Amino acid sequence: MTGTEATTTKCRRCNRALRSAESVARQLGPTCAKKEAAKTADFSIDQVVAARQILADGGVTRTRRDLSGPLFLVATSPYTKYWTSPTECSCIRGQRGELCKHLAAVRISLAA
Ligand SMILES: [Zn+2]
Ligand SMILES: [Zn+2]
Repeated sequence: MTGTEATTTKCRRCNRALRSAESVARQLGPTCAKKEAAKTADFSIDQVVAARQILADGGVTRTRRDLSGPLFLVATSPYTKYWTSPTECSCIRGQRGELCKHLAAVRISLAA
């Protein structure tokens, strides 16, 4: 017994213990990293980074399942919140039909 269990890093998506240094650094196992990459392939790096920050800050709240699917409240600050589904967002970019960091955050949260 070395007592290293206490410092084992687990995948933040599936909670499995991570082995490689790369996986530990991103707190994500290789399979889950691929799933996330597939879900965010359409987004810019900046949007994905911003989306991860929103998720890390606990800014994505699943509210209910409406007729067209899950609906989320995405908060980028205590005063700035958007209604976001996996395909639509209430922010200015979303209303123009463009991809935004809120959509990226929702899709990452659904990528499990
Ligand atoms: Zn995982
Ligand atoms: Zn948006």
